Amino acid sequence: MTEVQTIQSLSAAGQVEGQVLAGGTLLMRQVNYAPQEVPKILRITDPAFRQIGRVGGQVSLGAGVSMSQVIAAPELAALAPAARAIGGPAIRNMATVGGNLFAPHPYGDFTTALLAIGAQVQWADGRTEDIEVFLANRANARGVVAAVLIDPPRGEALRFAKVARTKPKGVSVLSIAVLINGSGRQVLSARITFGAMGATPLRAKAAEAALAGATLDVGGVAAACAACTNDLNPADDALASAWYRREVAPIHLRRLLLGET
Ligand SMILES: Cc1cc2nc3c(=O)[nH]c(=O)nc-3n(C[C@H](O)[C@H](O)[C@H](O)COP(=O)(O)OP(=O)(O)OC[C@H]3O[C@@H](n4cnc5c(N)ncnc54)[C@H](O)[C@@H]3O)c2cc1C
Repeated sequence: MTEVQTIQSLSAAGQVEGQVLAGGTLLMRQVNYAPQEVPKILRITDPAFRQIGRVGGQVSLGAGVSMSQVIAAPELAALAPAARAIGGPAIRNMATVGGNLFAPHPYGDFTTALLAIGAQVQWADGRTEDIEVFLANRANARGVVAAVLIDPPRGEALRFAKVARTKPKGVSVLSIAVLINGSGRQVLSARITFGAMGATPLRAKAAEAALAGATLDVGGVAAACAACTNDLNPADDALASAWYRREVAPIHLRRLLLGET
């Protein structure tokens, strides 16, 4: 039997063991099919869990903020394409930012964008860690994520693409996010991340290094595209083989960088 505990504040949630019920799009499937894996569910009623706010100069996304809320928030316009890529409208009304941080392969499209913009993960017990560190340790992570802190990118600095076999709602063969710091077609530096190309979203650091100082034209992006799978670790699954994912990743990165998607 699964026990449910309702918690009024995020700080109290940080003291309690159990699995958080956010949107429940993944957790309720686990409850239905493997209830022995979910002995205790935490339901958090703190309004801050579902709010978008400001902390200093940053935007705070409560971990319980849904993809629909992200899409509706003008200050998060750069992240809207990544939120829109998740499931259909009913799923986007339920699926949360926090749940996406923990979603296993091949899910995690929104987190791929959060990794590209260098989000900070804020735990309910007060710890804050870089999203890259969070993802590297995710398999052993315990506790409740309270919020994600971001500096929302301006203009078209953030580019996002999802590659799926079934459009518009299919699960990712892969997803890509690129944050470009530069001027016009000149790249000063970039963060390039891939979803569904490893157990968690990953940075393509060799491609980032190759893109620094390059121009966004066919010749300029070639080295970054050639190197883009160096740091990735794709798996075979029902959607695609690891081989196929490695073959198509450079093609989709090139299209995204050249504005062809
Ligand atoms: C039909 C369908 C289509 C989907 N399509 C996509 C897609 O295109 N792209 C994609 O990325 N995902 C997709 N998903 C997966 C899922 O809906 C999303 O990843 C979603 O963001 C998960 O959020 P949730 O709030 O529903 O998580 P939940 O199911 O509530 O939780 C998932 C896991 O995260 C843990 N968790 C949740 N919040 C917290 C927190 N604050 N602190 C600590 N642990 C927490 C839960 O305990 C649980 O283990 C799809 C799912 C379905 C059913």
